[in-house]
Amino acid sequence: MSDPTQTPQPSAERPSDFIRDIVAEDLKQGTYGGRVVTRFPPEPNGYLHIGHAKSICLNFGIALENNGVCHLRFDDTNPTREDVEYVDSIQEDVRWLGFDWGKNMFYASDYFGQLYDYAVELIKAGKAYVCDLTAEQLIEYRGAPNVPGKESPSRNRPVEENLDLFARMRAGELPDGAKTLRAKIDMASSNIHMRDPALYRIRKVEHHRTGSQWCIYPMYDYAHCLSDAIERITHSICTLEFEVHRPLYDWILDQLPVPQPRPHQYEFARLNLGYTVMSKRKLLQLVEEKLVSGWDDPRMPTVAGLRRRGVTPAAIRHFCHRIGVTKYNGLTDIALLEHSVREDLNKRALRRLAVLRPIKVVLTNYPEGKVEELDATNNPEDPNAGTRKVPFSRVLYIERDDFMENPPKKYFRLFPGNEVRLKYAYIIKCDEVIKDAGGAIVELRCTADLDSKSGGATAGRKVKGTIHWVSAAHAIDAEVRLYDRLFTVEEPDGEGRDFKQFLNPNSLEILTAKLEPSLGTADQAKRYQFERLAYFSLDRDSVPAKPAFNRTITLKDTWAKEQRKG
Ligand code: ATP
Ligand code: MG
Repeated sequence: MSDPTQTPQPSAERPSDFIRDIVAEDLKQGTYGGRVVTRFPPEPNGYLHIGHAKSICLNFGIALENNGVCHLRFDDTNPTREDVEYVDSIQEDVRWLGFDWGKNMFYASDYFGQLYDYAVELIKAGKAYVCDLTAEQLIEYRGAPNVPGKESPSRNRPVEENLDLFARMRAGELPDGAKTLRAKIDMASSNIHMRDPALYRIRKVEHHRTGSQWCIYPMYDYAHCLSDAIERITHSICTLEFEVHRPLYDWILDQLPVPQPRPHQYEFARLNLGYTVMSKRKLLQLVEEKLVSGWDDPRMPTVAGLRRRGVTPAAIRHFCHRIGVTKYNGLTDIALLEHSVREDLNKRALRRLAVLRPIKVVLTNYPEGKVEELDATNNPEDPNAGTRKVPFSRVLYIERDDFMENPPKKYFRLFPGNEVRLKYAYIIKCDEVIKDAGGAIVELRCTADLDSKSGGATAGRKVKGTIHWVSAAHAIDAEVRLYDRLFTVEEPDGEGRDFKQFLNPNSLEILTAKLEPSLGTADQAKRYQFERLAYFSLDRDSVPAKPAFNRTITLKDTWAKEQRKG
């Protein structure tokens, strides 16, 4: 397959980065006998976001490119925050992004028994001990990067006693927090993660898969490397903050009789995106405090939110390809994501006529009762998309913005005495402005050049402005939701900031719009461009009696504009 991410890529080149170089080198050296096994290991404590999509595209992409496999592994070692709702949504989202784990779906909790046995091995080898220190004492004894740690009084406990205490921890004889199992490494290490890190803690809580079978749970650092080894992962790819954990990853695997050759960990820079927050804790806060309508609110940076907004999986994959994989943390301009979304929608969106803020236009010289069916292009980017008929009649709606009573210079749309072309139809001229008692404009009286439509004698006549319209008698009403960025600043959770202070009060505006009748049979699987306005998609809540459309993105591409200037 020439295109590993199943995405049309303009450069048509295979992704290339330092991690793919490592994989290629291992294949060349035969390190893993030609096997490439990666994994995507979400903790089921929230919905996936666009940052996870980067990791998914990387892990599944590498597997696809090398005839390998990528496992979906739920890292469910922290039962207090986890939920099956998340397990389900994660699977749906990975699949929707276009990736397939085949039979390779696993849970870290599948290995609790094996992990326990490995811990017993460590104790027997004098490499782990049961520690009596409280949580506060553990922190105090750990020291700081430039302050060496202190050894726990439990550190030299005899093996037999450790085995007995660990068994009692497991049997539920000890209360939460009473003891921990710790690796015996080096309290003077310059790497704080190597200062006898905790491997197990007591937590008397139900687990969504193992129920009350366990009351001790393994720590991430202990469970993760061993899960990788048990699944015979070759390349364990994670984000940069785990770089300092790597010596512990290696230490644990080097002490235990795990299958060889064992996996290795590689780190890349996580995606940080402007004008949004990405931590699941903060996203959960937005959901729980009802600052958004749910995890799939179209303003959320979640995969479910982007999907509901109308973004396609191809656009997300393409974005992930564009940002690439590096070792340096940075902030990605959200305009780049928006650019990828526009580029994708431009290719696939069906053009339609719709008026968001209508103002009535009466064509005084057009016969009453007459209806013409005019041809309109479905997609100028796609020659196969064809045309459709759009009804035209004496009374129309145009966009309020497309008329000004006292226009500034260089305003080429409609104003008294001026002519514009109605897209796919006639040139019209504004003769009169009708106002209500309060002075608000209620109607424009215009005349049409009845020879100016396609095929007519003056069809080729040029006027400076072209505007969109719908026929009033034929238009359908729809709820249209205009979404904008959720935050007003690029780094809402920057140093010393409370992200909730920076929510954009105008991130959602709801209008009742007038749509051309063909949109009455709009399809959720399709994408639409309301001409001259924006890209839209049918919301999942939409019903025929009350259609609802979400604005996916406006037409103006600030990123592409900057590129042209730059
Ligand atoms: P969060 O900080 O949002 O809670 P997390 O790292 O705790 O995220 P996990 O469920 O543990 O979330 O993440 C699963 C995988 O996705 C991990 O391998 C993690 O490194 C990766 N990942 C998480 N966030 C990002 C991101 N912003 N960019 C790239 N990869 C990410
Ligand atoms: Mg994590």
